[in-house]
Amino acid sequence: MIKGKGISKGIGFGKVFIFEKRKRKIKKVIVENSENELEKFKTALNKVEKEIEETIQQSSGTEKEIMNAYLMILKDPTLVIETENLIKNLKYNAEYAIEERFNKIIEMFKKINDEYMAERAKDIIDIKEKLLDKILKDENIKLNKLPQNIIIVAKELTTSETAKLDFKNVSGIITEIGGVNSHTAIMARTHSIPLITEIHNINEIFNNEQYICMNGSTGEIFINPTKEEENNLLEQQKLIEEEKNKLEEYKNKETKTKDGFKVELVSNIGIPSDVEKVIESTAEGIGLFRTEFLYMDNEKMPTEEEQFLSYKEVAEKMQGKPVIIRTLDVGGDKEIKYLNLPKEENPFLGFRAIRICLANIEMFKIQLRAILKASAYGNISIMIPMISSIEELRKTKQIVEECKKELQEKNIKFKKDIKLGIMIEIPSTAIMAEQFAKECDFFSIGTNDLIQYTVAVERGNEKISNLYSKYNPAVIRLIKMAIDGAHKEGIFCGMCGEVAGDSKFIPILIGMGLDEFSMNSNKILQARKVITNLEKKQCEKLVENIIKLDSSNKIKEELENFKK
Ligand code: PEP
Ligand code: MG
Repeated sequence: MIKGKGISKGIGFGKVFIFEKRKRKIKKVIVENSENELEKFKTALNKVEKEIEETIQQSSGTEKEIMNAYLMILKDPTLVIETENLIKNLKYNAEYAIEERFNKIIEMFKKINDEYMAERAKDIIDIKEKLLDKILKDENIKLNKLPQNIIIVAKELTTSETAKLDFKNVSGIITEIGGVNSHTAIMARTHSIPLITEIHNINEIFNNEQYICMNGSTGEIFINPTKEEENNLLEQQKLIEEEKNKLEEYKNKETKTKDGFKVELVSNIGIPSDVEKVIESTAEGIGLFRTEFLYMDNEKMPTEEEQFLSYKEVAEKMQGKPVIIRTLDVGGDKEIKYLNLPKEENPFLGFRAIRICLANIEMFKIQLRAILKASAYGNISIMIPMISSIEELRKTKQIVEECKKELQEKNIKFKKDIKLGIMIEIPSTAIMAEQFAKECDFFSIGTNDLIQYTVAVERGNEKISNLYSKYNPAVIRLIKMAIDGAHKEGIFCGMCGEVAGDSKFIPILIGMGLDEFSMNSNKILQARKVITNLEKKQCEKLVENIIKLDSSNKIKEELENFKK
């Protein structure tokens, strides 16, 4: 057995299919007639553009989005003009000019020590290879016509190679290089295909004669497995399937407790194509659209039109169900290079989220107008992250009003009574919940941040992670304060931090009367099962007991003893 890093769950069985890329050497030639070379370059550009456009027509969701991003790279005037300049001014042959210009940008991206930028560099490599394929009339092996039941083994699989895959024939993917946040991993997860990476010397380990089975959760790979090893994995696959099938009965059901307390069970999303999973899970809406991914998935600020189209697409696909769009939440651990944010000693206590937006009102207005315009196409609300003082809320509301006025003057439609809510993720706001509730339409508790700011433990710091506890009595009291404050003023209170989808914690939230639970789509059915089997009255008693306790351990113990 060999072990790598599982980055897409699931069990896979199949024959090895080694995917090897050709190696080519691009020679530099100084040409006499640069017109010919320019023509070659333009023809290659057109062909690749047409191919991508065709792929866009035939694809949906993530693939479609990625291909749209490819099209943007391909149409980037600086990239095209500067390649043409190398041909015109230095008389380079077309393929060498492409290699030169594209490699410069690729190197630039790679130098930025950032996982996300490294992935974008791969996208540009991919486009460069496509262009060279056209000029050198070199085509890749047909990834869209693969034999059945294979496990693809490759040093690396690029985004567009993955997008081309004939997924119904692929039982698994194994690579040497690959990141959790790579588009390849995202697509594998979307298609429920196990993916294991970080297998070193991959070409020496595997060959096309092998049969393998793999476990994408544990990262285990068995080459030519024994009967026992194979049966073991088959058994695990059966269990996973059974668990999943059992949850199917909770699809399309109302989410309410045994004694009739109804809540809204909704999803968190990061990009518009995540909506497919939301619909499949039968979530009742979207409680958090983390819009920063639209900004992070770009080399420059997404325009008002681009943002509008993304928000509109989500709203329309959700067909009138609630969609809460959170305004830009960057800073802290989420970096956007082109915003040139200053390096800070304590980024989590620094220039983040609404603080950035209120310091860049024109940038903020672009997003707000895009959300407002999209609100004409569905049931959209606006949510503001990291609110710590009432002045920030008031200032934000004033800017929203200005945006509404601007749209009105141009006769652009939007939902006039669009709801505006805030995230409760800073203790100062939870403590003052009642006052905030008088001036906004809803709350959503962001426990990921609320915990870190309450116990002063950075959310990603492994060394002190034992202190980062949702069971800390102060955290529980702050959650209660937020819910009570909202209800006192008659507004609804949701939660979109990870705690909302935690089966063990849900009874406390039901007992406190939380109105809305927002989580990853793949947790929806399990959460619906938990809620359906609870009784609100019993949960209220649980809260009464828990609120008197003075330590995380005691609270945990009380929860473990809680009888449903
Ligand atoms: C939170 O803080 O709980 C939250 C949902 O926001 P994010 O994880 O995006 O900071
Ligand atoms: Mg947060």
